[in-house]
Amino acid sequence: MTQELGGFAALGLNSNIVAAVVDTGYEEPSPIQSQAIPVILAGHDMIGQAQTGTGKTAAFALPILHRIDPAKRELQALILAPTRELALQVATAFETYSKRIPGVTVVAVYGGAPMGPQLKAIRQGAQIIVATPGRLVDHLSRNANLLGTIQHLVLDEADEMLKLGFMDDLEVIFQAIPATRQTVLFSATLPSSIRGIAEKHLRDPQHIKIAAKTQTVARIDQAHMMVHADQKIAAVLRLLEVEEFDALIAFVRTKQATLDLAAALEAKGYKAAALNGDIAQNQRERVIESLKDGRLDIVVATDVAARGLDVPRITHVFNVDMPYDPESYVHRIGRTGRAGREGRALLLVTPRERRMLQVIERVTGQKVAEVRLPNGQQVLDARIKKLTASLAPLVADAESTHGELLDRLTADIGCSPRALAAALLRKATNGQSLSLADLEREQPLVPTSGPRERSSERPAGSERGEYRERRAPVPLAEGRARCRTALGLRDGVAAGNLLGAILNEGGLAREAIGRIQVRESFSLVELPEDGLDRLLGKLKDTRVAGKALKLRRYRED
Ligand code: AMP
Repeated sequence: MTQELGGFAALGLNSNIVAAVVDTGYEEPSPIQSQAIPVILAGHDMIGQAQTGTGKTAAFALPILHRIDPAKRELQALILAPTRELALQVATAFETYSKRIPGVTVVAVYGGAPMGPQLKAIRQGAQIIVATPGRLVDHLSRNANLLGTIQHLVLDEADEMLKLGFMDDLEVIFQAIPATRQTVLFSATLPSSIRGIAEKHLRDPQHIKIAAKTQTVARIDQAHMMVHADQKIAAVLRLLEVEEFDALIAFVRTKQATLDLAAALEAKGYKAAALNGDIAQNQRERVIESLKDGRLDIVVATDVAARGLDVPRITHVFNVDMPYDPESYVHRIGRTGRAGREGRALLLVTPRERRMLQVIERVTGQKVAEVRLPNGQQVLDARIKKLTASLAPLVADAESTHGELLDRLTADIGCSPRALAAALLRKATNGQSLSLADLEREQPLVPTSGPRERSSERPAGSERGEYRERRAPVPLAEGRARCRTALGLRDGVAAGNLLGAILNEGGLAREAIGRIQVRESFSLVELPEDGLDRLLGKLKDTRVAGKALKLRRYRED
C-alpha cells in the first residue's frame, strides 16, 4: 500500500471499506470526504455543501457502511435522492464500497418500476435503501412501518429535491423515521427552504463546506466540451488531432484511468505514459524527466501523482475527469502557462457535471466557454494539414533525387505517376483514415445532445457554442418526464391555464413544473418523473377551458 492510501484508513474507516476503496482506485480522500467522514462516523448530524463531482457520494456512503450492522437483516440507512438516475448511481456506489463486507444488501426504490420486487428486496433483509421521495411515500402509504428501523438518513442533493416539488413528501418521510436517527443533508446550495428543513429536522448539525479560494488563471485559455462518460477516450483522441500541442498533461481520477488512457494513446502512436500513486518515486521522476526532454509528450496523471510537477514544455492541460473542487482545477491548469508562456486548458464535462463547471466559473471568476468536440471534418482537415506540412519540404529537390526512379517504376508497373503517387501516399499514411466515412468509423463519437452534426451544416465562422445552442433540441431536465394533452391553441388553451390547473388539482409546487409548450392541436408539459403516476391519477378528471385535460406520459421515441 502506498502512503496516500493510508488517507482513507486514517479517517477511521474499517479495513474492509478501506480495501474496497483501494480496489476502486481512489488514491486519497477528496476534500469533502476528509471533512465529512469523521463527522458522520462520530454520529453527528451534518450539513454538507457540495455538488456532484466532489466525491460526496463516498463521503456519506463510506461512513454509513462503517456504522451499519451487516448481521442485522433490517433497514438501517435511508438515502433520499431527487431522481431515479441519481438513486441508481448512489445504490451502485454503495454496492461497490460494500463489496468486501459480507451480508450487506442495498435496494434502490424509484418510480417507473414495479413496486413488488422493491418491496421483496426490502423484506429479504436489505440494510440500505436508496429511494426517490415520491416512490418511497407510495410504499409508506401501503406499509407505514417500513422505515421504523432506520438509524441513518441522508438527503442527497436536497436543493434538487425541493426544486422537483418533494417538500411534502420529505415531511411524510421524516415523520416515518425514528427521531433518534442521524440525519445528513447534502446540498449544492443552501436556500432558506433547505435551512428551514435543517432547523426543523436536524439536531445540532455540523456544517461542512469546501472553502474555495479565487485564484487568477488569466494567461490560460480555457474551454470545456460536453461528452458522455464512456466516450472520454474517443474525445481525447479527437482533441489531440486538432490541438497543436508541445507537451500535455491529462488529469483523470483513478489509477486505472491513467493506465487505460495512456495505453489508448500509445496505441495511436503518441509518446504517452501513466503517472499514479502506485508508481515508485524513482520511476515517477523518470517519467517527468522524459516529459521535460521530449522523450514523452503526454502524461496521464492523477492529482496526487502530479503534485509538484513543473515542466515548462507543457502547452496543454486536459481535464479528462472533473476535478473535485475549483481549487484543484486551478491547481491542475496551472501546470501550463508556466514561465510566462500561454497555455490552454480543456475540460471534459459529462451532463451530470454541469453544475460543478458553474462552481468553477464562479470561484475563478472566469467563463470556461463551451466548444464542440472536433467533428470528423475538422479531424480530417488537421490530418491533411499535417501531411501537407510533412511533405511540402521534400518536394523541392525530390524530382532531382527520385525523378528517374519514378519514371522507371511507372514504366515497370505500367501505371500513371498519379497512381504511383497515390500508392506511396497510402503507404506513407500507414492505414490512417483520410476520408470522412473512414474516419467516422475509426473514431465514432455520439454527440451529448441533439442529432449528429454534419460538418457541412456548420455556418462558416459561427461561434461553436452558439451553433450548438441553436441545433440542440430542448433537453429534458433530469428527473422530469414529458406529458402530453390533446388540448392546444385551437381549444383556446394557454400555458397559464395548464399551469393553474396542474398546480391546483395536482397539489404541486410551482418549481415542480418545467416547460409548458402549447401547440395548435396539443400541448406538452414537463412534470416530475417520480410520483408521476400518482399525479396523473389526481388529474384524471381535470378540465381546462371546459374540456377534459387527459394528460398522458409522452414518449418521443
Ligand atoms: P460524486 O461527487 O459522488 O458524484 O463523485 C464523482 C466521481 O468521483 C465518482 O465517479 C467517484 O467514483 C469519484 N471519486 C469519489 N471519491 C474519489 C476519490 N477519493 N478518488 C478518486 N475518485 C473519487
